[in-house]
Amino acid sequence: MMGALLVLNAGSSSLKFAVYPIAEDTLTPFVRGKFAGIGTAPAFSARRRDGETLTWDQVPPLAKNTGHDALIPALLDWLKAQLGDLPIVAAGHRVVHGGRFHDGPARVTDALLAELDALVPLAPLHQPHNLAAIRCVATAAPDLPQVACFDTSFHRSQSPLAQMFALPRHLTEEGILRYGFHGLSYDYIAGILPRHLGERADGRVIVAHLGNGASMCAMKNRRSVATSMGFTALDGLVMGQRCGTLDPGVVLYLMQEKGMSAAEISTLLYERSGLLGVSGISNDMATLEACNTPRAEEAIALFCYRAAGELAQLAASIDGLDTIVFTAGIGENSASIRARICDRLLWMGVKLDAAANAKNALRISALWSEIEVLVIPTDEEAIIAHSSRVLTTDRCDENTAFPDKAKP
Ligand code: ADP
Repeated sequence: MMGALLVLNAGSSSLKFAVYPIAEDTLTPFVRGKFAGIGTAPAFSARRRDGETLTWDQVPPLAKNTGHDALIPALLDWLKAQLGDLPIVAAGHRVVHGGRFHDGPARVTDALLAELDALVPLAPLHQPHNLAAIRCVATAAPDLPQVACFDTSFHRSQSPLAQMFALPRHLTEEGILRYGFHGLSYDYIAGILPRHLGERADGRVIVAHLGNGASMCAMKNRRSVATSMGFTALDGLVMGQRCGTLDPGVVLYLMQEKGMSAAEISTLLYERSGLLGVSGISNDMATLEACNTPRAEEAIALFCYRAAGELAQLAASIDGLDTIVFTAGIGENSASIRARICDRLLWMGVKLDAAANAKNALRISALWSEIEVLVIPTDEEAIIAHSSRVLTTDRCDENTAFPDKAKP
């Protein structure tokens, strides 16, 4: 079958896209790109598979008020011009929340969209943008099959115990559960792990997805056993702007004693906390690492302290640990953050090779480390392409080989 598959990952201020050939076994995109800074200072960047950079010369030009609804149809036109005779035959989307019943990707229907709309309160920062992108594509290309790939699905393999809060049972039955997120990233890493570890990939592995949003996942047999994020993407690690695990008593105090509304607390916890809140400077780890002030240093120290603690807790869920994988922006690029987290895990037998770590090498553990430590770039778009191809074409994907993502 000839044709191309469009992958969209729509965030609040960014729109990432990639276009994959249907006919090839390797999932290497023809073109991959991003609109960043939507709503403030939109910027376009894109690259063809031969490395050539591409520019945005379309209508509308990028202006402060150019939103997703204008960009998506324009992007479809731009891609048509890039692809020539090759038609886009399906679109796959990242959708943050799939609820408790979707343990894999799903074809988009009106009924599915209504079901996913109801989950907006559980992922208010991401879900509306994900669903708006699906609706924009449906308006621009009504006959194009679309697939929703959920960040929660990978974690549906977890035991009921791992998904449960210690709340009255009727609330658990209503769906107040630990859903977990970043599942597309974990699914990608689980898919590529045997290439690097052979049979050891099926052992006890913790993947640390450390980006602006950050979480960890403990896996056995490359399936999720436990994860640090819970009911919403607020839980677990310290993040760029999100607080991570917080005593719920703090929320009660803010309401009862400081008179804060739910909306104010939501903004505080989702947008003003984490690295930004502690440092008072930035949510961006690279910026904090460069700035050398006591508050930036304290924010970084808290991030690493909490990451090491979460990792040790997750190891208990899989009866110990064989391998740690670092991924996402911080995990892939910051040798000093990896070193600071791993130094706290020396007691578990984690020992880094400083030179390999400094180079962001694939294997960064010392030869005598009891626990192997890897750095593997994640590729959420590749796993969306893979799933969307399976659901929309007659291709059997047994032979598909995930490519190692090219380092920028
Ligand atoms: P998102 O969750 O938005 O996809 P990313 O995975 O792109 O985030 O990660 C963004 C984070 O990675 C930012 O905090 C950024 O500063 C950090 N980062 C990227 N490169 C480096 C680097 N070389 N050193 C330290 N932090 C880095």
